[in-house]
Amino acid sequence: MPGSAPKESFSPQRRRLLRLPAQLMSVAIGVPALARMVRAAPLPRLKITDVETWVLNCDSLFVIVRTDQGITGYGESSPMNVRAEAALVNEALKPLVIGQNALDREQLWERMYFSTYKLGVMGAQPEAIAGIDIALWDIFGKVTGQSLWQLFGGRRRDRVRMYASIGGGAEATPAEMARRAAQAVEDGHTMVKIRMDWGMRRTDANPAHDWAVLSEVRKALGDKVELGFDANNGFSVSTAIRLGRRFQNELGIIHYEEPVAQYDYAGIAQVVAALDVPVAAGEHEYTRWQFRDLITQANVDILQPDVVKCGGISEALRIAGLASTYNRLLVPHQTQPALGTAANLHFTACWAREERAQEYDINSKRAILNRVIHPALEQKNGFLPVPEGPGLGIEVDEAGLRKLRVA
Ligand SMILES: [Mg+2]
Repeated sequence: MPGSAPKESFSPQRRRLLRLPAQLMSVAIGVPALARMVRAAPLPRLKITDVETWVLNCDSLFVIVRTDQGITGYGESSPMNVRAEAALVNEALKPLVIGQNALDREQLWERMYFSTYKLGVMGAQPEAIAGIDIALWDIFGKVTGQSLWQLFGGRRRDRVRMYASIGGGAEATPAEMARRAAQAVEDGHTMVKIRMDWGMRRTDANPAHDWAVLSEVRKALGDKVELGFDANNGFSVSTAIRLGRRFQNELGIIHYEEPVAQYDYAGIAQVVAALDVPVAAGEHEYTRWQFRDLITQANVDILQPDVVKCGGISEALRIAGLASTYNRLLVPHQTQPALGTAANLHFTACWAREERAQEYDINSKRAILNRVIHPALEQKNGFLPVPEGPGLGIEVDEAGLRKLRVA
């Protein structure tokens, strides 16, 4: 009859097979353990008993989620104003998750995000959520005995090429920046990015200095090393296009980051349209909705979500879906040398293209955290290994960490 469901029909052989006891059937198909394996084992309910914020003396914020089953998750929030983020975690988010099941990541993410929507959905709010979300993923990995890269669907590589991200170009001389870039290459990096960090002195503070710095760096590195430039939102549209054209044609950059103000999507789109070099942005965006606009309005080539800023791993995965949908490169922003880096390594090993090196901040004062996590995340020959253990794959020495804690 049209519209009705087709009647199930079984062959005589299949009917006979279905009458066999389950164990006998397993033997019949030659994989006796399979039936047991495919039956999903229920995971225990893990009641969240505490959420702790550890403000560290290196401007880092670790977020620790404890459960009634003794399994602890470690997360990290953005290093931008960690005390404000800690207050947000403690005053606004913690009451929303205490007593809840730590494995309900999706529900908890929505609960945290939409319940605190009016506190601002860019900046501190998603950064605070990120700390808890990363810790919840760490717990999920520990409960299942799987690394995050396994839970994401499998990694494409077991180590990730890292580019040296060198900041402070506004204050340094061209010779000093060239010296630091050459040192990074000597240390094993095959790509260098120069950040100008003009800060409040925007816009077009000193374009001649920008050119002098980058051309001196290129001279010091030769043609073999990949080169990127981060204007840190420091140019007007016309300067971004004029200098960007010279950077791509004369210095061969492969990555042109935040050439104009981050909120000027129309201006970014003009720069993208005028140049061939891939334009990158995203460290000033947060959730999927801002990345949707960054793609559809600013039309950037490279997306740079930051797992400690964008609302954590849960949201980074959604943004990766957008990058795939719109065919954009994923090169996350990151200046974290500890848990944020670990989370990012799992993420990029699964989702980012291998040809693109990932960000490694060589100047970070937070490198001290490598002393209290195992394995330490220090680059070797320009690569970082993807951690192997369950969850983040990082063991945290809480006693050692406590010595760095200031709030
Ligand atoms: Mg940047």
